[in-house]
Parts: sequence; structure tokens; C-alpha cells
Amino acid sequence: MASTYRVHEIFYSLQGEGRHTGTPAVFVRFSGCNLACPFCDTDFAAYQELSVTEIVDRVTALLPEETAGPILVLTGGEPALQVDVPLLVGLHTLLPMPIHIETNGTVALPEDLIDWITCSPKEGSHVVLRRADEVKVVYTGTSPEPWYETIAASHYFLQPCSCANTQAVVDYILAHPWWRLSLQTHKYTGIR
Ligand code: SF4
Repeated sequence: MASTYRVHEIFYSLQGEGRHTGTPAVFVRFSGCNLACPFCDTDFAAYQELSVTEIVDRVTALLPEETAGPILVLTGGEPALQVDVPLLVGLHTLLPMPIHIETNGTVALPEDLIDWITCSPKEGSHVVLRRADEVKVVYTGTSPEPWYETIAASHYFLQPCSCANTQAVVDYILAHPWWRLSLQTHKYTGIR
């Protein structure tokens, strides 16, 4: 029997955060997470069990006729708890889009099968990822420098916590200019 994956929702919108802000994206949100961050604002509890084919069918149904452009974003919860080689091979084979993932970095991934890794490490967690395309830290007042020093990436973003401490983030970046500002633009624009 084919493997199934616990999927909370699949929807088409714009990437709201980080280097690919503004890019059309189909989000596959997996259910479940191995952390319990106090600022977590993501609902991922309910789920449907879906096979690779069912995930592909639902993504395809959301895509516009012109499929060049959108990205596929695997998110959660913590997608690395479920994303495996059969799923990634199936998605690459059946969907004409780059595969991105947004992970807290605590679970190892088949990195070679993923086109863009966003690692969003959380305070007090044990991160096993040593490289990512971008590191995106939610700033809560704790220094993010340990993440800068231990995760090799091309881009380092600092993001206000629930849009609330933007000035503190700006001040931090001005003093530590290797960071860049990431805003949750989907919240400012009222899109998903
Ligand atoms: S790692 Fe992300 S999804 Fe998991 S509890 Fe923290 S903020 Fe929520």
C-alpha cells in the first residue's frame, strides 16, 4: 500500500516571508510539530491522510494554466517529520515546480532533493541542519548570532514576532548588518 502523509491544508497564495516574498506558491501544510513555540500562530492540528498522487492532484487543481512561475512550499507544523524520499521523488516527477521547505531544522532532511531550504531555528531547540539557503529567525530579544555562526546559508533574515516588535528588529539589524529584515507580508496585506 502506498504511503500516506498527514496534510492539514493545501492552498495557493503568495509567499509572504523571506527571500521569495511575493512569489506565487502552492503551500502544502503538514500536520504536527515536534516543538511548541509560545508564539506559534499556525493551525496544523487537523489533517487528512493523502498519498503522493492525491497531493499532486490537489496541487495541480490549484495551479493556473501557465504553470511556469509558482513554487511548491512544504511547510507545517514541521514538514521534516514526514517529508521523505518517495514523496520528494514523486513531487519532482509529477509537478513542474521548484520544491521549497520551511523547517525548524531539528530533523534531518533529504537535502539533495529540495531546491530551497528555509531553516527557521527556534530558541532552545537542537538544530541538526548545518546548511540552508536562508535562515529566518523570529526575533524575541534573544541574540540570533548562534544561528548565524552554526548554520551556513546565503541569506539571513530576522523577522518581528507576530508583527509586534518591528522597531527592535530594525535596531538589531542596523547594529548587526549581516541580517536582513523579513516581514510577514501576508499579514499586512490580509492574504493567507
Ligand atoms: S516550530 Fe513552527 S510550527 Fe512548530 S511550534 Fe514552533 S512556530 Fe509552530
